[in-house]
Amino acid sequence: MQEKTREQEEALGIIWHFRERKIKDFDRIIGKLKEISPGICDCLVEKGFIEIKDKTIELTPSGEKIAYNITRRHRLAERLLHDVLEINKEEIDQSACEFEHILSDEVTDSICTLLGHPKFCPHNSPIPAGECCTKAKEELESIVVSLDKLKSGDTARIAYISILEHQRLHKLLSLGIIPGKILHLHQTEPAFVIKVDETQIALDKDFAKNIYLRRST
Ligand SMILES: [Zn+2]
Ligand SMILES: [Zn+2]
Ligand SMILES: [Zn+2]
Repeated sequence: MQEKTREQEEALGIIWHFRERKIKDFDRIIGKLKEISPGICDCLVEKGFIEIKDKTIELTPSGEKIAYNITRRHRLAERLLHDVLEINKEEIDQSACEFEHILSDEVTDSICTLLGHPKFCPHNSPIPAGECCTKAKEELESIVVSLDKLKSGDTARIAYISILEHQRLHKLLSLGIIPGKILHLHQTEPAFVIKVDETQIALDKDFAKNIYLRRST
């Protein structure tokens, strides 16, 4: 394994994030990387983490692996800070940026398991899966679970909703189905009937899978 510094990890994470958003504007990417340090690109090329050809940056397999892991750790840390420690969304990025460099693979997978192998960070960016996710069984001890894993009669607090379609998300939010609220699950067949405050609505199972809750202790 090639030695890597914190700055290099940061830069590879940034390249990953641009690629994910399909942004190919070379000058914009380079500009962002130079904010970390002016010589970072040469350094990444020298280490064999990236290749630059015709004004495009490609991650090499070793660079790809580091970028994947740093992104995974960053976004899981965000979920942890946001859902469990209830730190607000505007403040989590900086702390997550500290965590991403220090979490070991074991700790990262434990956090992932604890949170129920989340697929998206609080900003709705995808969390790269770890070994724990691919071989995840039903983790009964998870603190955060999706609605379809609860039983009729259960009560839990809404942690987050991972719906990417804004229309559906706004519909839920406008009904008062929002993070922090206590949700009562009345029935699961033929549809999930939930009650939050005075609002009672029925959701189909596919929809229910996108609502994540913190088990009340
Ligand atoms: Zn960082
Ligand atoms: Zn995020
Ligand atoms: Zn996992």
